[in-house]
Formats: sequence, C-alpha cells, structure tokens
Amino acid sequence: MRVAVIGAGVIGVTTAYELARDGHEVTVVDRRELPASETSHANAGMVAPGHAYAWSSPKALKTLLRALLRDDLALRFRVQADPRFWRWCWRFLRQCTNERAAYNTHRKVRLCLYSQERLHRVVEETHVSYGGSQGGALYLYRDPEGLKRAAATAQILRDEGVEVRMVSPDEAARLDPVYEPVRDRFAGALYAPGDESGDACLFTRNLAEVCRGRGVAFRMGEEVRAVDTEGCRALRLVTDKGTVEADAFVLAAGCHSPRLGRAVGLDLPIYPVKGYSVTIPINGRNNPPTLSGVDEDNLFAFANYGDRVRLTAIAELGGYDTSHRPEDFTTLLRAARELFPGAGDYQRPDFWAGLRPMTPDNLPIFGHGRTGNLWVNAGHGHMGWTWACGSARITADLIAGRAPEHDPRSMMLH
Ligand SMILES: Cc1cc2nc3c(=O)[nH]c(=O)nc-3n(C[C@H](O)[C@H](O)[C@H](O)COP(=O)(O)OP(=O)(O)OC[C@H]3O[C@@H](n4cnc5c(N)ncnc54)[C@H](O)[C@@H]3O)c2cc1C
Repeated sequence: MRVAVIGAGVIGVTTAYELARDGHEVTVVDRRELPASETSHANAGMVAPGHAYAWSSPKALKTLLRALLRDDLALRFRVQADPRFWRWCWRFLRQCTNERAAYNTHRKVRLCLYSQERLHRVVEETHVSYGGSQGGALYLYRDPEGLKRAAATAQILRDEGVEVRMVSPDEAARLDPVYEPVRDRFAGALYAPGDESGDACLFTRNLAEVCRGRGVAFRMGEEVRAVDTEGCRALRLVTDKGTVEADAFVLAAGCHSPRLGRAVGLDLPIYPVKGYSVTIPINGRNNPPTLSGVDEDNLFAFANYGDRVRLTAIAELGGYDTSHRPEDFTTLLRAARELFPGAGDYQRPDFWAGLRPMTPDNLPIFGHGRTGNLWVNAGHGHMGWTWACGSARITADLIAGRAPEHDPRSMMLH
C-alpha cells in the first residue's frame, strides 16, 4: 500500500519507519528542510515512565489560577482571543478531577512502558545513535514533606510495574556524584531506575536516514495545504509544490494537526503548550549531571547527551508563537547554575522554544474519522519522545487492520 505521512517530527518519522517495516511504500511530507525541526527539536529528552503523571489534575487547577496572577517559572498563562483556546481550556479543566487524573495517569504509564519497549526494539534493529543514556532518573526534593507526598503519589506508577523508590541525599550522590557538594540542600529524591534519556532530534534525523535507506521518500520543504477527498476516502495531499497521491494517509503534524484535520471534518482537541530549553556544551573540565531528572522545587528538567547538557522548563499556554528572548531563560539558568554550577559552558547557551501538542486528557489521539483512510497519530503533549515508538507501532497495526499489541481503544477517535 502507498502511505503518505504528514510531518517529519519524532512521531511522523517513527511511523514511517514502522510502515516501511511492514512493507508499505511510504512518503513523508514536511514543510521544514530537515526532520525534527519543530517540537521534536530540543525537548528535555527524557523517556520517563517514572514521571508519567497527568498534567490535568486538581493541582494543575490551583497552579493555573496562580499563573493568572503572576509569572511563574513552571506555568504561564497568556489569554487568547481564539475560541479554540477557551474550548480547549474548558475540556482540560474537566479532566482536573482526582478520578480523571488517576485514570489518565494509568493510561499514560502503560503507553510509556509499551513505547519504551518499542524504542529499545527500534534501536536494536537499526543501531541508530541518539546520545541515549540509561541508568535511571532522579526527581529531587528539598522539602521532606514534599518528598513524602511524592513517594506516596508514586504508588500509582508502581501499581503499573514502574520501579520508583525514595533515596536519601547520600544515595542520590552515590548514584550521581554531581550531587556530592549539594547533598545538604535536599531532603532526598525519587529514583526511577528504568527511566532514560536521549536526544529526540538526533534520533529522528538518524532514523530518517535509516528510513531513506529502506526506500522511504522524504519530500522536505513542502507544505501540505489541503487534503482532497471523495466520499469517505482521502485521495491526495495538495501541497505548495504539487500533490501526493496515496492509498492511506497519516496525520502526524503535531500542534498543526487540528488545522489539517478540520479539512476532513475532524475536531482534534490539540492545543500548543509552549516550553523552553537551553543547551550548553560540555568540555573536559565540566561536572555535568550524568543521570537525567527534574528539580521538583524549581520545576526544570535536565539531561546529559554526552557532549551537551539540556535544561528545560515552563508550560506556557498562549498560542502558536515559538519566539523567545534571552530573558525567558533567566530563572531557569539561575536555578540550574545553583544546582549544577559546573555542568557545562554557560557562556555558550543555545536557546530554543517549542510547542507541546497537548490534549485535554494528556493522551495522544489515534484512529480515523469519517475519512476512513486518513489516520491520526498526534497530540502527544509533553511525552511525545517517550511515546513515539509505541504510537508508531499502534498506528501501523491499525492501518494493517491488526489488533495492536497495546490496546489503543481509549485513545481512539470516535
Ligand atoms: C520544552 C519541551 C520539553 C519536552 N520534553 C519531553 C521529554 O522530556 N520527553 C518526552 O517524551 N517528550 C517531551 N516533550 C514533548 C515532545 O517533544 C513532543 O510531544 C514531540 O516532539 C511531538 O512530536 P510530533 O512529531 O508530534 O511534533 P513535531 O515535532 O512538531 O512534528 C510535526 C511536524 O509536522 C510538520 N508540519 C506541520 N504542519 C505541516 C504542514 N501543513 N505541512 C507539512 N508539514 C507540516 C512540522 O514541520 C513538523 O516537522 C517536550 C516538549 C517540549 C516543548
């Protein structure tokens, strides 16, 4: 079958890989010149079942209200005139009950575990390099009460088979010597030995090369403007350069999926939640964190890619703007320098901002609407790198008419 994939982010490229593996003739179309040039470009890089909590929770509601009144490191709220923004907020708020948060967290963790297994399989099959680092992640707490609460909350992850245990500051320093000099600042940490990290951009670009080698065509620098349909079938993509005919189509355009989806009658509840990252180079004298993790008091994440350290923070609800100014990183850099003074060369920061394609329940969307051969694989929010390989396999199985190994029914369009 000929399959056209819209989007060469981590979701589109992993989907192309699985489709080619199934023997399909695959074409990927992306408006950018290189794969992973949008949200998959410089994310935190964590593959983290040990941090798979639903963002929509009663706690989020309080943070949201606080964010209306002041600029917070963790959350920023920029009111938009766009009615889709308000509709999305309303749907998000409806997920902020204890029951929904627990239900969504269970679904998130299961997809994490399945996807991590698939990631390992893809790496084994392709030997793709991506600065991957295993050995777990540390979630750091300064306040003993906060640590105790977090350890109790983590039971929901343990119930799904994720190992998460509380460690003392000494044990944290044994796991990662970077904490040796700052041990007395922490009450302790949660350690998730199964969590890992890696550069999603490098992974996507290298996997795209593997795909090319297996006959996948990449039409880069080409923007999809419309989808031509006839009855319940999509016939072709109409781009700014021509057309792409196929028997099946996959919409994997991240935050921009709803616009294209609307053209075929889909109402995809995906809205951008902006995040910021700064990447600094490591040289021989530096002392970077070796394990990835999150400073839970200052709410920033960190990961080590061997030659670089990446620091990420902020969830900003406020439209599609990806611009950033050096001031946006002041608080993040201050917190990072305090914790990791010698992590890397802070004089050579590489600033970036990207848009998480967030759904109200924080889970991705699969399946198709009334256009039966246009499949959706979008809305991966803050976990798209973690979920990419699992979501790709699910999508390829659905297109093949097979029951996916991981049951996607609760995430399907209906
Ligand atoms: C700050 C930050 C930190 C994050 N940290 C993590 C993390 O630690 N772990 C994790 O698992 N996830 C993380 N994420 C989330 C993850 O990065 C995303 O979920 C993932 O990158 C989404 O991938 P995607 O392929 O759906 O979207 P994208 O990477 O945005 O890809 C979509 C592609 O579609 C193309 N496109 C759009 N419209 C069109 C069109 N009309 N025609 C042609 N092409 C089009 C775009 O050019 C783009 O290349 C983070 C995100 C951010 C912003």
